[in-house]
Amino acid sequence: MNIIPVCSKHFEFDNTYSRLPERFYARLDPTPVPQPNLIKVNRLLASHLGLDLDFLKTPAGTNILVGNQVPEGAEPLAMAYAGHQFGGWVPQLGDGRAVLIGEVIGSDGRRHDIHLKGAGRTPFSRGGDGRAWIGPVLREYILCEAMAALSIPTTRALAVVTTGETLIRESRLPGAVLARVASSHIRVGTFQYFSARQDIDALRLLSDYVIDRHYPEARQSPNVYLALLEGVIARQANLIANWMGVGFIHGVMNTDNMSIAGETIDYGPCAFMDTYHPEMVFSSIDQMGRYAYGNQPKIAHWNLSCFASSILPLIDENVEVAVEAVTDKLNRFPEQYYNIRDLKFASKIGFLNHQDNGADLVQELLDCMVTNKVDFTLAFRRLCDLSSRKGSENNSPDEPFTLLFEDCLAAEGWLVKWRERLVQEGQNELDRQKIMRATNPAYIPRNHRVEQVISAALGDDFKPFYKLLDILAQPYDDQPKSIEFQNPPLPDEIVRETFCGT
Ligand code: AMP
Ligand code: MG
Repeated sequence: MNIIPVCSKHFEFDNTYSRLPERFYARLDPTPVPQPNLIKVNRLLASHLGLDLDFLKTPAGTNILVGNQVPEGAEPLAMAYAGHQFGGWVPQLGDGRAVLIGEVIGSDGRRHDIHLKGAGRTPFSRGGDGRAWIGPVLREYILCEAMAALSIPTTRALAVVTTGETLIRESRLPGAVLARVASSHIRVGTFQYFSARQDIDALRLLSDYVIDRHYPEARQSPNVYLALLEGVIARQANLIANWMGVGFIHGVMNTDNMSIAGETIDYGPCAFMDTYHPEMVFSSIDQMGRYAYGNQPKIAHWNLSCFASSILPLIDENVEVAVEAVTDKLNRFPEQYYNIRDLKFASKIGFLNHQDNGADLVQELLDCMVTNKVDFTLAFRRLCDLSSRKGSENNSPDEPFTLLFEDCLAAEGWLVKWRERLVQEGQNELDRQKIMRATNPAYIPRNHRVEQVISAALGDDFKPFYKLLDILAQPYDDQPKSIEFQNPPLPDEIVRETFCGT
């Protein structure tokens, strides 16, 4: 493949993962595609990474974003990892359809991976073609950018380029490449890969690398690797609590899809739920509901125990001592998670001083939402606008909220208790509403909207994609011109199942 000398202002690579030993990855270039066509480049993210937007839009820039040319300074590689998939151990996975092209430092001084998903076969591809069709690529772009706008840790999307290739899936579908940005692509499964091989040197190198890159504060602790575990646990507790707060269901929380840096990664058959139910599952491959909405904290805990057991030999030479130390840290996960989750839901119902976190009221509301099949996002958003005082009988300011419930009286009953407690809180009404509106998004990437974008894209119309991205960039704003995008799907628009699309 041609290495094109690209002026350094375009991509200033500073690669570190490629300095790790060769058994961490396979070096290879992305496989070229016949007809690259740039669909979207993320202007703000490009600027954050110091990339020249005008250049990225040229054929030369697009060729880099799709993997047809390797820019100077890039050192493309596919990362090795293993993982538990639906609880079953798979000793070798790895980047089967993605290539890490290098690392760049953002304007915040942080290091980011630039990674091309759908970049062709690698030694880790097993039976797959190494490609991605446009559906999952647009889905990941929309969902990860929505997640970022919601201020939830996530990988980001830099660009989408269609390839001109037709892929064989359930039908013939157009191919695309997603240029993805992450604070790194190291996973719990990366540690498991070396642990399973009893490669302690590699485990130590990887852990030191991760500490330097993501958890430098761990160096202050007497046992740096135990401090690493503590850091990873804390970030996962925060991440999952954030997901729960917006009704996000990842769908494939396998250990290879859990980022060690605590970002949402590998958007597959994920979904934001419309109607609230703790057992909600969308993924077509999740037959047993292992990764249902309400199971996510438990699964994160389980995945963290996989991480802990893979670094045991680094914690202490004496296995019993090591097990006791990590068990102590792991046992604190539920409390850490619930602390963040409860604060989040307290803010969602407007309890701001947190002496009373309103946990009983939150639970009562959620139970009532299940019984009455209520839209999660809309209910919390409409609650923001309700006054802490009841309106008069002949005007019903509560209706936008209560009419969401099949049994309005149940909702009214809950509001009575909510108001009593708000009085005890003694918050200024405007402050409360402001914080509630900054906690309860008006806009989420609703599944039916994402499906509409993908259908239009299959007819070469990307306007709905651009429009949805614009709306989701300001999820907490009212955006009166786009109000219909707040609405749940009509009965014939409901999406009940989502697919990996691999
Ligand atoms: P996922 O659950 O989507 O993160 O993928 C699980 C594993 O399957 C990873 O190792 C992927 O690289 C691999 N994989 C998924 N799709 C493909 C594909 N089309 N070709 C090759 N490998 C794939
Ligand atoms: Mg994955």
